[in-house]
Parts: sequence; structure tokens; C-alpha cells
Amino acid sequence: MNASTIRQIVIVGGGTAGWMTAALLSRALGEQVHIRLVESDEIGTVGVGESTIPSIRLINTFLGLDEDDLLRSVQGTIKLGIQFNDWHRLGASYLHAFGDIGLPLGLLPFHPYWLRSRQAPGAPDLWAYSLNARAIDAHRFARLERVGDTPLTGLRWAYHLDAGLYARYLRRHAAQRVERTEGKVVKVNLRASDGFIESVQLTSGEIISGELFVDCSGFRGLLIEDALKTGYEDWRQWLPCDRAVVAPSSRVEPLRPFTQANARPAGWQWRIPLQHRSGNGHVYCSRFMGDDEAAALLVRDIEGELLEQPRLLRFTSGMRRQSWNRNCVALGLAAGFMEPLESTSIHLIQSGVQRLLNLFPDRHCDAALVAEYNRQTRFEYERIRDFLILHYRATERRDTPFWQHCAQIDLPESLERKLALFRSGGRIVRDADELFAEPAWLQVMLGQGIAPASHHPLADALPQAQLDEFLSHIRTLLGRAVEGMPGHADFIARHCAAGGPAAVA
Ligand code: FAD
Repeated sequence: MNASTIRQIVIVGGGTAGWMTAALLSRALGEQVHIRLVESDEIGTVGVGESTIPSIRLINTFLGLDEDDLLRSVQGTIKLGIQFNDWHRLGASYLHAFGDIGLPLGLLPFHPYWLRSRQAPGAPDLWAYSLNARAIDAHRFARLERVGDTPLTGLRWAYHLDAGLYARYLRRHAAQRVERTEGKVVKVNLRASDGFIESVQLTSGEIISGELFVDCSGFRGLLIEDALKTGYEDWRQWLPCDRAVVAPSSRVEPLRPFTQANARPAGWQWRIPLQHRSGNGHVYCSRFMGDDEAAALLVRDIEGELLEQPRLLRFTSGMRRQSWNRNCVALGLAAGFMEPLESTSIHLIQSGVQRLLNLFPDRHCDAALVAEYNRQTRFEYERIRDFLILHYRATERRDTPFWQHCAQIDLPESLERKLALFRSGGRIVRDADELFAEPAWLQVMLGQGIAPASHHPLADALPQAQLDEFLSHIRTLLGRAVEGMPGHADFIARHCAAGGPAAVA
């Protein structure tokens, strides 16, 4: 350790971002760094963020969390994917199921073979080759890592969780390693020489100094924006929705192992099944729908009994021009926000912390490290943005002014290139380590009604009889695997019912 080594980190904010950052940093950095987290009960947290993607499970491994204990503590359920209803056209439905689809063969991935096969009348759809999709249809789940002793991978899962309980769970976990301060930050003090943050001041007058500051203060960006004036890139020309009304409702049966995203006249509505209730939200574009109408639609389409009156949230999809500025790194809503259509925000917190650890600085925050962090962050955000735009832009819906507007959205070049490759020859190119892999792009492009004109010519080299046998074998193996799984609700009751084992009959 030398004089430049960072010894004091201050995290402002105690929502999911603050406590996830505190838990991960304190685990990784150990005792060499003192971490202090400031949160304000008076301000509170955004209180949403209940649907996740499978990368969240890596946190458990890193922190040594037991999955059953976690699910029990956060009223959690299993998420195997997202069901999109009415997106391509009214009445049409498709899945973005996690995990692999089929098996690669020879030099090719699976999907060119499937594209060839689907020309035959009555050919099974793509989702017949996805274990996650088959388990979703059957409402079943088991912790299956492989399909028997075959090369087929097992299920990939994420969680639905109560956002407030999750932040509290991480807080409990980090409590011994992180100093927590309840208080409201009212002033941020900058160093005259270079504009680095020196300290934050609380209402009580207390001054908290640090060498590295993590801004997890939510949409406002107390440090990154209010103090450092970093600037925000507004992406509403691509992602026009800017409001959500949210409300919980009572639990409904069957307990779905998937999130629902149902398109609406000026946006879409989510349904997230938890053990004790369902989470609901209606995301919409305020240019095309008023708040009262949006709330009325939410309530009309809620399953079960409404438990609280709808609450309004405003947002602007986009990202901070620099997530890392001087000695301040913004994470969570302070860094940026894209609407929760593919449940990516919690993942972005996690990957931001991982990036920070990979590029961990000393007190000088070397400009090259900062620039690399910001480059990687931008790449990750922009690729997710493209994936979200796809859902709105590739649609046949023209039934409302909102959907007519979506059909006119200008595509970023990166997305235009991807779509052209798929439309002409069914090719999917994953850019570097972008978050969404080929199976995700494939499902959403097909689901949104994009039909490739042809498939990879190498797929024609396989004799028809061998192709038929290959495909039918996969379908049989997946069907048997799903038959052997318990129902999702049974799995939860047996392993992680929030009431504890005594509550299980
Ligand atoms: P917040 O929860 O707003 O926390 C901010 C913290 O900063 C609070 O503790 C507050 O007290 C503190 N603070 C603020 N100002 C001060 C101050 N002056 N002094 C001291 N403390 C202060 N993500 C997903 O991954 N999946 C989803 O399904 C999903 N759905 C969403 C739906 C909607 C409508 C929205 C808006 C977001 C959704 N998100 C989702 C995003 C997710 O909610 C956030 O990424 C996550 O909750 C992290 O929020 P946060 O911790 O950055 O901010």
C-alpha cells in the first residue's frame, strides 16, 4: 500500500445500487478500504426493480449467498424468461426465454438448421428447442444444469424479487463490513485544484471525506450531476416512453416462472409474480397518454386484487455522458436508465461494480482508466438500447398514434446493420461481449415478425433425414426433461417458501 492507495470510499445512496455496490466492493476489497454508505430515510428509494436476468446469480456465488435463503428473504420466485404479448401485432405472443436453443452442429449454430426446417408444413416453432420455453409453457422448474448426460444445457434462471427486501437483504449481508450513516447529504465539497470531490456534508453538519465517491443517489445524480455537472444523454428519440404507474396486487395462480410484458396503446404493462403479491407497472409515453388514463388502464388490467393506489414515476431513458467523472463513479439510476422491458438495470449496477473493480484506481483516478471505464460502459448501454429499440420498431402495429410513431423511429447504425444481416440471410452477429447473446436476438427478431429471406448455405449440406432425426431427438430430450420437473409453485413451496419450512404443508 502506498500513499496513493485508496483507503476511504463513500457511497451515497442506499437503494439496490448502493447496497449492491457496498456488498460487492467490501467483499472484493476486504479490510484495506473503509467503506461508508450514507442513505436518507426521508428521501427513500425508488422501490421498483423486481425482475432480473440470470447474471444476478453470479452475485450469490461471489458473496457466498444461499439461493434458497435469498429467495425466502425477498419473497422471490423463479424467472425463466419474458412473455411478450401484443408486440408484433394484437393477439400475437412470443417468448424471450433465457438459455440456449437447440444444439450447434458442425460449423454452424443451431438456428440455420431450424430456419431450413421451418419451410416444411407443420414444422415445430423455434421455442420447441428451448428448454426454458418448454418449462415456461408447463409452469415447471428444477435446478437442472444439464439435460441428462447429453450436451444439451439445462435451465438458465433469474429471479423475481421484492426490490425493498432485496436492498435490505444485501444491507444485512454487508453490515459488518460497511459503516452505515443515516442522514441527508445537503452539500458536496469540491477540491479547488482539480474539481475532485473532497467530502459530502449532512443536514446534521457532519462532513464525510473520501478518496473515491460512488453516486448511488438515484435519478437525480446528487454527485455526478448536481455537483460535477456531467451531463445526460437523452435517448427519447429511440425509447420514447418516459413514465410509469406502478401498483402491487394480490398473488394469482398459477405462479408463473416468467415476467409478462403486455403491449398497450401507448406503451406496455408488466406483471411480475412474487410469493406474497404481484408487481405491476404500466410504462407509457406521456406524449400519447395522460397519467390518469395510464393509471386507469393499469388498474383495469391488473389480475387479482389491487393492494395500493398507483404511484407515478417519471424518467428519461438515456445515460450520463460519463459514468465516471473525476473521483466519482455513478451506479444505478444515477448512471442512467433504460425502461425495464428486458430487466437490465440491476444487471448494469452489477457489471458497473465489476468494471470498477477491474479498473480500480488510486487516488489520482488516472485519466486512461476513467476513459476505459466510460468506453466500456457506453458500449454496454448502447447495445442494450439497440435491443430495446428492436421491440418497438419491428412491429406491424399501427393501431394507435404511439405505435405509428414507433414505426418511424430512426435506427442507430449498429441496429440497422444487425437487422440487415438477419433479414437477408438469417445471420446474427454478437458484437464483442454485448449483454444479449444470439438466442436473445433470434427470439425477439422472430417474435417481432422479422422473417429472414434465406438461411446459411452450409445448413443445406446435411441430408434431410439426418436433419429430421437431429431435430426430433432434441425435442424428445427436452420434453422428457420438462416432464421430470416439479411445478414452479411446488418448487418454491418445497425449497424457499417465504414463510419458512413450517409454512409448507
Ligand atoms: P434509488 O432506489 O432511488 O435509491 C437512491 C438512494 O439514494 C436512496 O437510498 C436515497 O435515500 C438516497 N439518496 C438520495 N438523495 C440523497 C441525499 N441527498 N442524501 C442521502 N441519501 C440520498 N431494474 C431491473 O433490473 N428490473 C426491473 O424490473 C426494473 N423495473 C423498473 C421499473 C421502473 C418504473 C423504474 C423507474 C426502474 C426499474 N428498474 C428495474 C430499475 C431499478 O429500480 C433500479 O436500477 C434500482 O432500484 C436501483 O435504484 P438506485 O439504487 O439507483 O436508486
